[in-house]
Amino acid sequence: MSLQAEYRKLTWPEVNEAVRQGRVVLIPVGAIEQHGYHLPIDMDNVAVETVCLRAAYERPDLIVCAPPIHYGYNEHNMDFPGTISAELEHFLHYCVDVARSFARQGFERILLVNGHGSNAHLLDAAARTVNIKSDAKCAAISYWDLTKADYDTVRESPYPGGANHACEYETSIYLAVDPDLVQMDKAVKDMRHHSKYFYEDLLGGSPVRFTGWRSAQTKSGVGGDPTIATAEKGNVILESAVRGMIELAQDFKDFPFGERTNLIGVDPEMPGQG
Ligand SMILES: [Zn+2]
Repeated sequence: MSLQAEYRKLTWPEVNEAVRQGRVVLIPVGAIEQHGYHLPIDMDNVAVETVCLRAAYERPDLIVCAPPIHYGYNEHNMDFPGTISAELEHFLHYCVDVARSFARQGFERILLVNGHGSNAHLLDAAARTVNIKSDAKCAAISYWDLTKADYDTVRESPYPGGANHACEYETSIYLAVDPDLVQMDKAVKDMRHHSKYFYEDLLGGSPVRFTGWRSAQTKSGVGGDPTIATAEKGNVILESAVRGMIELAQDFKDFPFGERTNLIGVDPEMPGQG
């Protein structure tokens, strides 16, 4: 029998087997939020689930894909219809609880895979918390960070700001996955104001962290230029993300993290002694 790529399709004896195989757990984490006039509000979930599922189906010997965390941290977007948000602390704790449960099942490598910008810093914190509270290793990545080099080969939107939200980048992904749900006739270019220090772009944002109310920056909900999105660009992005995810999972599995040592009260063996 071939290996099952999806965690939720396993029986409990098969979960034990997946743990013994040392498979890396991918937990897709998305959001339900406005994505302009032209994209469904599940954009982030569609993207991150597609990447994680494709990676798992390609390498079920290495990866098992968990059911997604569908709702994200989204307070800044609540002025727009459609957006659903979990408050910062709730979202953080929920992600820790879910990821830590995989550790309690015996999995040793857990990757929180992010599909929504505002989740990123909280998933970093969640992964760190799981590392402190369990023996597993837990890390976090936003899938777009695996794709910059390949996206740059097809990118037409200006940097910075052309690829930010419901933009060329995201719209291209949806066109590649489910074109019937993209209303391209309603896509509008909406470049947010940017300055030397205040700008946003999925593929390289400002070092200054600032997120205010989204409705203060855009009335369409878009950040960037979705009018130049194509399914071809989306396929380049998705293939890049899947390839990167498999490579990352292998690296994560193989990396020698070392053993923790408590050095408090222990005299060190320093050079020139003894
Ligand atoms: Zn998005």
